[in-house]
Amino acid sequence: MRISLTAAVQPREVPCRVPGCRNTWTQTAEDILHALRRGEREPPKRMCARCEALYRDITEREVPCGRPGCGGTVRLGRFQQLVWEVRGRRPRELLCEECRSEAAAQDPVEVPCRVPGCSGRWLWKPEERLAWGREKPPARMCPDCYRIYRELEDVTRPCKVPGCSATVAYRRFDQLADRRAGRRPPQRMCRACAERLRQLQDRSVPCSVRGCDGTWTWTRFSQLVAERKGLGPEPPRRRCARCQEELQRLQDRTMPCRVNACDGTWAYTAAQQLSDLRRGRKPPRRLCPECLERVKSLEDREVPCRQEGCEGTWTFTRFDQLLHERTGRPEPRRLCARCETFLKDHPPVDVPCRACGTPMLWTSEAQLMAELGLWVKPDLCGECKAREVRQGAG
Ligand SMILES: [Zn+2]
Ligand SMILES: [Zn+2]
Ligand SMILES: [Zn+2]
Ligand SMILES: [Zn+2]
Ligand SMILES: [Zn+2]
Ligand SMILES: [Zn+2]
Ligand SMILES: [Zn+2]
Ligand SMILES: [Zn+2]
Repeated sequence: MRISLTAAVQPREVPCRVPGCRNTWTQTAEDILHALRRGEREPPKRMCARCEALYRDITEREVPCGRPGCGGTVRLGRFQQLVWEVRGRRPRELLCEECRSEAAAQDPVEVPCRVPGCSGRWLWKPEERLAWGREKPPARMCPDCYRIYRELEDVTRPCKVPGCSATVAYRRFDQLADRRAGRRPPQRMCRACAERLRQLQDRSVPCSVRGCDGTWTWTRFSQLVAERKGLGPEPPRRRCARCQEELQRLQDRTMPCRVNACDGTWAYTAAQQLSDLRRGRKPPRRLCPECLERVKSLEDREVPCRQEGCEGTWTFTRFDQLLHERTGRPEPRRLCARCETFLKDHPPVDVPCRACGTPMLWTSEAQLMAELGLWVKPDLCGECKAREVRQGAG
């Protein structure tokens, strides 16, 4: 009879009686039966094994009152101390009997939340105020903020310097403050970047437009970014503010081809215009893309001198060839450089007739012919020559 009853009852796990403890202790079947016989249906209040062990080592203590300047003491019971130990925290303020009754007669004070941008308040209880010992309340969050704060976690965010792979801690209190103030998470620099930035200084860099003597400022932050991106110490090419502004006003222009006979055009970009403006240059004369292409395919050619008997040549440049192509003119006939110079150096002269002394005009061309051995220098005038011929015949 007794055996079967024991078999029908199962041992059970009972929660530890210490508030805050999640352990259990095991009530045996036999125990349960004993209790049932005594008419006790509910399990007894008992500690788990761990709490029991802790409890054994705890002794009752007297500690000074938590209020600064008070000579009173507080008696700490063993069980009370056990509960604090299990919970892992003890009350902020432990006041003596006298101080506690003094606190009971006072009202709590409302204190503004410590989070900037929050208009919430927290209640400063009299006990806490007495234990604090000062008029100025401690910095604390309102319950609302604290609730949010507990759900937040410290996180890391990338350094704000592009190209830097370091991270920056974003603490949960800062997250809370930013959220309360309606701010976005701030962009922050890592420690290394902040330190490097302090060493750098803004630099004045010459304008990239040729002929401009203006400068632009390469900020230390931009320098830092360039460093982090591994771009080297050379400043980027950039225009000064004046050039930048002027460039906005300028517009690309369509210019006629340098070859008058061609209808083609080329684009005179605003940047080129600006550069020419700074150097005091006129708009350049240029070939249209087609002419440029054509001239590139041509080659300078040596052409025989048009002067009979001369073996010299002159250079028919590819640009000249292009001009002739575009205008449809026939290929030119020219003198070589030597012949050209000879004509320049030998103006027409008067040569006296050997017989009568009459001056005869000796042209530059005739002199050139004589130089080349094709003609001879004139000797007799027409009349004397004719006479000589008649006499020779008679
Ligand atoms: Zn326990
Ligand atoms: Zn006290
Ligand atoms: Zn708050
Ligand atoms: Zn960084
Ligand atoms: Zn400039
Ligand atoms: Zn053209
Ligand atoms: Zn020649
Ligand atoms: Zn003569």
